[in-house]
Amino acid sequence: MTSKKENIKTACVIGDPIDHSLSPLLHNHWIKVLGLKASYGRVQIKAETLKKEVTDCFKDQNFVGVNITLPHKQAALALAATASPEAKKAGAANLLVRRDGKLWAHNTDIEGFTAPLLKAQGQERWQNSTMVIIGAGGAARAALIGALTLNPHKIILLNRTDARARTLAKAFGGPVTAQPWSDRQNALHGADLLVNASAAGMTGKAALDLRCEGLAPDALVYDLIYTPLETSLLAEAKIAGYGALNGLDMLIAQARPSFEALFGVSPPSGEAGKAVLIKALEAKP
Ligand code: NAP
Repeated sequence: MTSKKENIKTACVIGDPIDHSLSPLLHNHWIKVLGLKASYGRVQIKAETLKKEVTDCFKDQNFVGVNITLPHKQAALALAATASPEAKKAGAANLLVRRDGKLWAHNTDIEGFTAPLLKAQGQERWQNSTMVIIGAGGAARAALIGALTLNPHKIILLNRTDARARTLAKAFGGPVTAQPWSDRQNALHGADLLVNASAAGMTGKAALDLRCEGLAPDALVYDLIYTPLETSLLAEAKIAGYGALNGLDMLIAQARPSFEALFGVSPPSGEAGKAVLIKALEAKP
């Protein structure tokens, strides 16, 4: 995880497993476009050695930081001396960098979730809207925190294991309520936004057991999954005439602030990075 060469800034993403991560491809594309003396790798780390390995990495002054993916996001927050309000609220971090000589934790998944929504339909569209979020894991929590910043009228949480949705709704309160999984179809009625933040529909997993109908006529369906790029939920949404957004834009939108924090410069604007990721995803068997 450390650089052997002088003055080359290094960073990486850690997780277990990690082979599937697209972050190195995207960050190295941006590094190349900007001509930076930097590199971004991936390292598989077990929970038992997380603290030692992360601490060792930061001993190298050329090591600028680390992105964190499953299952270490909560543990990563605990490693930091200070944390952003987003990371504290999420109870999880996907970024660790040095700040004033100390480890600082941040969570860019929240911005990653909201940025594509704002780009797709603007801030006003989501004010006083009704949103439905499916799932109760880390992605759903980030989506919920992001969704709340858009000032919706109502957020309905649905999760296969009802108790987890209820716990999450209770923790946030305000416009957030949980509805039983058995009532999920009715819960969609008139909603402006449907978010799939569950793992259902991912390549190799069962499709989400929900019909994409009953939403407001101009509703947007946002599936946080990007493997495949078009889940059956999104395919159905398009046929029904709803807007459709996959998880790739979220992946890129969470990587942007990470890149800035790691390398001190904004990543290039434009869609070239997205095209690189799509090509890689389409080449996968
Ligand atoms: P997680 O913490 O493991 O949570 C998984 C969630 O999916 C749980 O709520 C689980 O429900 C639900 N679930 C699993 N199988 C299901 C099924 N067959 N039917 C209904 N619900 C099911 O995972 P996570 O980190 O939140 O990630 C969830 C999804 O978001 C993944 O597909 C991931 O790829 C995606 N994601 C995308 C991005 C991005 O940048 N685009 C970032 C993060 C995550 P139970 O509580 O009942 O088990």
